[in-house]
Amino acid sequence: MAIIDLRSDTVTRPTRAMREAMLDAPVGDDVYGEDPTVNALQEQLAAELGFQAGLFVPSGTQSNLIGLMAHCERGDEYLVGADAHTYKFEGGGAAVLGSIQPQPIAHQSDGSLAIADLEAAVKPVDPHFARTRLLALENTWHGRALPRQYLQEARAFARRRGLAFHLDGARLFNAATAYGVSAREAAAGFDSVSVCFSKGLGAPVGSVLLGSTALIDRARRWRKVTGGGWRQAGMLAAACIHALDHHVARLADDHARAVRLAEGLSSLRGMTVDAQHTNMVFVRVPVDRLQALDAHLRAADVRVSIGYLPTVRMVTHLDIDDDGIERAVAAFGSFFGSN
Ligand SMILES: *Cc1c(COP(=O)(O)O)cnc(C)c1O
Repeated sequence: MAIIDLRSDTVTRPTRAMREAMLDAPVGDDVYGEDPTVNALQEQLAAELGFQAGLFVPSGTQSNLIGLMAHCERGDEYLVGADAHTYKFEGGGAAVLGSIQPQPIAHQSDGSLAIADLEAAVKPVDPHFARTRLLALENTWHGRALPRQYLQEARAFARRRGLAFHLDGARLFNAATAYGVSAREAAAGFDSVSVCFSKGLGAPVGSVLLGSTALIDRARRWRKVTGGGWRQAGMLAAACIHALDHHVARLADDHARAVRLAEGLSSLRGMTVDAQHTNMVFVRVPVDRLQALDAHLRAADVRVSIGYLPTVRMVTHLDIDDDGIERAVAAFGSFFGSN
C-alpha cells in the first residue's frame, strides 16, 4: 500500500498528465529570454494575477530573496513576521546575501502583524538606523488565510509610510480558495507576490515572482547573481502551466479532507486537535509520546511532520485521497484509542 505522506504538500509527485505536458513543451535558453514555455507561464500568471511581469525561479526561497533584493538596498530593512518563512525558514538569506536587515514582528493569533506594532517598528530617518523600506506578509501563514480586512489595513499602512508591500504567497491559491475569491483578488494591493508551484499545485519545481516590469528586471539580475539563471526550464514551466489549468479548483478537495482529518482525530483520547486551516491540521501530543507515535505511524505507512513545530502538523494534497485520510485517522486511533 502507498505511504500516506502528510508531512507537507511539497511531497506530491507529478501526475501522468503533467509529465506528458512536460515532455511536449517547446523549450529555449531562458537566460536569453528565449524559452517559449517559461515566457508563457510568466505572462499567463502575471495576466491572471494583475501584474505587469513575472519571473520563473527554482524555489520560493529564491523568489522571496530576489524580490526583497529588488525592492531594497544594502542597509535597508524589512518588517516581517517573527514566524514568517521569509524571516525564519530561509537561512537568513535577506541579511546574509542581500545586506537587508529584518525587523521581526510578533504575530497575532490570526497570523497578522498588528498595525500598531508595525508603526512602532518603522525607524526614523537618521544615520543611526537602517532605512525601513518594506513590509512582507505571508498568506496563508501556517495554513491560516489572513483576514481580508487586515490585508487592506496593512496596505494602507505601507502606503502611508512609503513602504513597498511584498507577499510571500507560497500558498496564495489556498488563501483564495479559503476566501472563495480569485487568486487575483487575493493578490490585490501588493507590489510583489511570490507564488509556489511545488506545494499544493503539485508541480515538481518552481515559483514565480510577480511585480512591475521595472521590479522584475531588477529581480532577473539578482536571479542570475544568486545562481538561478536556468536554460531549457520550459519543461518545468510546462508542469506549472498544467497545474494552473488543472490543479487550482481541486484545492477545495484538500481543504475538505483537512476538515475530515481534524474531525476524525478530534474524538481520540490523549491528544488534541489544535487547529485546522485550509489544507493543514495541527495536533498536540504529549511530548513523551511523540517518538512512539512517530514509530507507530511509520509502521502503518503514515508520515506526519514531527519536531519542527510545537505541534504535529499534517498537510493534505494532491496525492492524499479520502481513503488516505481514513487510514491516517485509523493509525492515530490504534495508538491513542477513542473516547
Ligand atoms: C515553501 C514555502 C516557501 C518557499 O520554499 P521553497 O522550499 O524554497 O520553495 C516560502 N514561503 C512559504 C510560506 C512556504 O511555505
